[in-house]
Amino acid sequence: MNQNRLTNMSVKELSELLGSGEISSAGLTAAFLSNMTLKEREINAFITPTARLALEGAARADRMRREAKETGGEVSSFCGIPYALKDNLAVRGVPLTCASEMLRDFVPDYSSAVYEKLDGAGAVLLGKTNLDEFAMGSFCERSIAGPTRNPLDPGRSPGGSSGGSAAAVAAGEAPFALGSDTGGSARQPAAFCGLVSIKPTYGLVSRRGMAELASSLDTVCPICRTVEDCASVLTLLAGRDQGDMTTFDGAASFEEGLDGGVGGMRIGVVPPSLLDGCSPGVLRALDRAAEKLAKLGARIEEADLPLGMALEIYLIVASAEASSNLARFDGLRFGLGGEGKSAADRMRDARARGFGDEVKRRIVTGTYALSSTYGGGYYRKVKAAQNAVCRETEEILSRCGAVLLPTASGPAFRVGRYASDPNALYKSDRYTTVANLTGCPAVQIPGGGEDGMPVGITLMGKKRSDALLLRAAYALEQEIMTDVRKETGRDGGNTVWDVLRHGK
Ligand code: GLN
Repeated sequence: MNQNRLTNMSVKELSELLGSGEISSAGLTAAFLSNMTLKEREINAFITPTARLALEGAARADRMRREAKETGGEVSSFCGIPYALKDNLAVRGVPLTCASEMLRDFVPDYSSAVYEKLDGAGAVLLGKTNLDEFAMGSFCERSIAGPTRNPLDPGRSPGGSSGGSAAAVAAGEAPFALGSDTGGSARQPAAFCGLVSIKPTYGLVSRRGMAELASSLDTVCPICRTVEDCASVLTLLAGRDQGDMTTFDGAASFEEGLDGGVGGMRIGVVPPSLLDGCSPGVLRALDRAAEKLAKLGARIEEADLPLGMALEIYLIVASAEASSNLARFDGLRFGLGGEGKSAADRMRDARARGFGDEVKRRIVTGTYALSSTYGGGYYRKVKAAQNAVCRETEEILSRCGAVLLPTASGPAFRVGRYASDPNALYKSDRYTTVANLTGCPAVQIPGGGEDGMPVGITLMGKKRSDALLLRAAYALEQEIMTDVRKETGRDGGNTVWDVLRHGK
């Protein structure tokens, strides 16, 4: 089969081809590896490609499928499917850098829970993807590996911090990837690259073996071409894990009932005052989505989410937790070894050389917020404010099954645009952080295009409503797809952005 076609297929399509024996995992993996060779020089999605492991994994998957066929046994639909992993998720024996000088030489002797599940299913790891150092950022430029570029326009950012994972999927270098989302890091890059991602309810997917940014906000997320693929990856990853006591068992399957529609559902839309600064393309995408949801039988009403408060609280909580999590890198026990006579000298040296500017900035502000000298109960007040945001959001989400909002205020910005303006970059997270602060699930789907690039929209719901949310996102995705097919006169393509891009 034509290699180009294979590398643009959804996981579902590839799984069917593997199941029917039309393709082998060895062939499929080779197709993705050769696409990586072709594209990596420009895109730089991967920090550590794992080609040898991938070929071994593919051979093992082909064996698993053969044996299952002979014995009448069953294999996972992921058996033989290649994928990429953000480089803050551990795989035993493979470098785990978090894009930081601090961990440049670190090779873990343990694996993350999500890797274990994928490996157990026979999925094939293609490599570890680029990110902003320790997942702090929204553009994938703060990395020891240099910036990742957006495959849809290499002059633009793929978003971040999971920019490498999103770029790998959009470039056809992997059919799906895992990212992490602490304040928007999977949803925003998915939006910038025309892809789908779900930030699950906090605790639905185990964080064991993920390098922490802010432990109370961190989530592991699929980044895929379609809602259906996201649902099937989530089904594989979800569930209780002894190694992460915040986990719980979710639905047995997130694919089941995906086509149940949104009839009778109440869906909130944010008031115009919260959309200040959004580009015309984002506003158009929101209007169209609301109109489609209404047409599908949902009742639309206004929902005034506390977005501004959420962003400000997020910045303090995330920095405070990061400062505490990163304290372990002390030049003595973990990470880069420090040089100097005293322990204090060695610590100073390792942390000065090991961390980039943004990481240092957050350690300083986070430590400050936590310090007892700074107003004593300052952090307690921040947590009280977080509780107020949670209450307000829960109240809205007990009325509405979902709230529709932008993922970002515009399409992907140019590489380098925010290089010297961290404050402006923080503000770009204003639509995403509320889901992390409240622990709620949120699904990003492509909502349309602008300026030759995709723009994303998000549906957010109450805790543990992941299945319902995916159902609504699926209905909306299908409806938008029908719309853009009509608009462009193109039949093929498996994503909204594919149709828009090739339809002109
Ligand atoms: N962009 C946000 C930040 O810089 C989110 C990071 C994340 O989700 N990992 O904090």
